[in-house]
Amino acid sequence: MQIISRSFGIYGTNCYVVVLDDGEVIIDPGDGAYEWVKRVCKNPLAILCTHGHFDHVYDCLAIKDEFKIKIYIPKDDAFMCQNDPFGLLKAKFEPDIMVDDKDEIELGGVKFCFHHFAGHTPGCSVITAGEVMFSGDFIFKDSIGRYDFPFSDGKLMKKSLYKVLEFKNYKIYPGHGEPTTLDSQRSSLTRWAQAI
Ligand SMILES: [Zn+2]
Repeated sequence: MQIISRSFGIYGTNCYVVVLDDGEVIIDPGDGAYEWVKRVCKNPLAILCTHGHFDHVYDCLAIKDEFKIKIYIPKDDAFMCQNDPFGLLKAKFEPDIMVDDKDEIELGGVKFCFHHFAGHTPGCSVITAGEVMFSGDFIFKDSIGRYDFPFSDGKLMKKSLYKVLEFKNYKIYPGHGEPTTLDSQRSSLTRWAQAI
């Protein structure tokens, strides 16, 4: 499993391509990811979204139409694609598969598992595959996702932070900024959880 990434759009949102033997899994394709994905992918298998914010889903539809693959999104964030409540998408769209906490999807022989960590958004999730966690906007290196947006919830964010501290170590690939590890973030995450 090889992971390549590039950041896109005004917020420098990381899009990840997980290269497997049979093809590629695309995670969080933001504004401009379409051209890059077309260049680096030979046989895309699916698009997985950590949450519904526009900067993470902006190019989903273009990639889906090009490659005829499915868009997976946490069920509680699907409304952000369907209704575009912030008015920031190129077009509203219907995700194909609504996922729930602990839903597992096998792609190219690898199991991708969604874990629900509400707070940043109602459906905010991380996606694990083997020893790797794609953390979206839930946790970053030395920081956490904002919980003061419309549809955010600080109380749920606090709960989610305590929940992730129970997880084993993972290499973390966040939605913004540099990779890190869960072990190296435990003290910072504990401080954040106590502060909310
Ligand atoms: Zn976000």
